[in-house]
Amino acid sequence: MSFKSRSEPAEVTILRSLNNRMILAEKDKKRYYTLEKGYEGELMFDALTEKLQSHSLILNDLRLESNKSKFQLDSSIVFQAKINLFEVKNYEGDYYYENGKFYTLFKKEIQNPLHQLEREETLLREVLHNIGIKIPIESYVVFINPAFFLYQAPLNKPIIYSNQLPLFMKNLNMQPSNLNTWHMKLAEKLVSLHQTELPYDRLPPYEYGRLRKGTTCKRCNSFSVSVKGYKIVCGTCGCEEEVASAVIRGVEEINLLFPNIKITTNLVHEWCKIFESKKAIRRVLKQNYCFVGRKEFGFTHLND
Ligand SMILES: [Zn+2]
Repeated sequence: MSFKSRSEPAEVTILRSLNNRMILAEKDKKRYYTLEKGYEGELMFDALTEKLQSHSLILNDLRLESNKSKFQLDSSIVFQAKINLFEVKNYEGDYYYENGKFYTLFKKEIQNPLHQLEREETLLREVLHNIGIKIPIESYVVFINPAFFLYQAPLNKPIIYSNQLPLFMKNLNMQPSNLNTWHMKLAEKLVSLHQTELPYDRLPPYEYGRLRKGTTCKRCNSFSVSVKGYKIVCGTCGCEEEVASAVIRGVEEINLLFPNIKITTNLVHEWCKIFESKKAIRRVLKQNYCFVGRKEFGFTHLND
């Protein structure tokens, strides 16, 4: 189990919702697909590191800052005598490497993941130095997608391709590692420095009145869902969900898109759209959120 888990970046969740509820400009759509794909790649890598048996502390998605430079570490693993740092890329298709640069086959230069990795390693070293920790860092770019191919791939660069991963993981597993409280404190310290980032200044403009309303399927995002008793059923993929869970999902979606909006029964009723009466919505809100004013519910989840 990871010491710090990964959750879906708010930017991905919001862009998915916007992509479903309005027409995104091509560049925003592209950004959404790129982010979604990157996140999928990170989850694929997590599925591998989770299986590690050797003593280690896995820190997924650390966002740190050193001297006003912010940086994000996809995956860091603390072992007894080193920290392994991984920059995970879910690129797909054919690319080539020439004179220290990466290109698509259409000769379009892409950001060099090796430079990105170097920057992350340098900044992490600074952070560790500032908290008085000395431990070697060993970092790699991981091309996780089996459909990625790099022509003229450089030798002697810290790159792991998807078909090399089984052996790489096997080797990680075999190395002797014995962790003590010092390692635990190191991991705790890094997690305490993690900064959650709000994506609102990077999003395309959107407004409540112009977004398509309606409950969507939790699995396939389709709007073809209908209420059947205490459940909602998706007409596209057949997925079923408890009404209460769908309403809570709706509230969370509204709150993420519009953090300052007042959550009221009427608002949630309008947003979810598929429930005829407001009774069920009111009941779910009362059971899960606290009142903060007349008719208004606070977003503090009662179970938190
Ligand atoms: Zn569905």
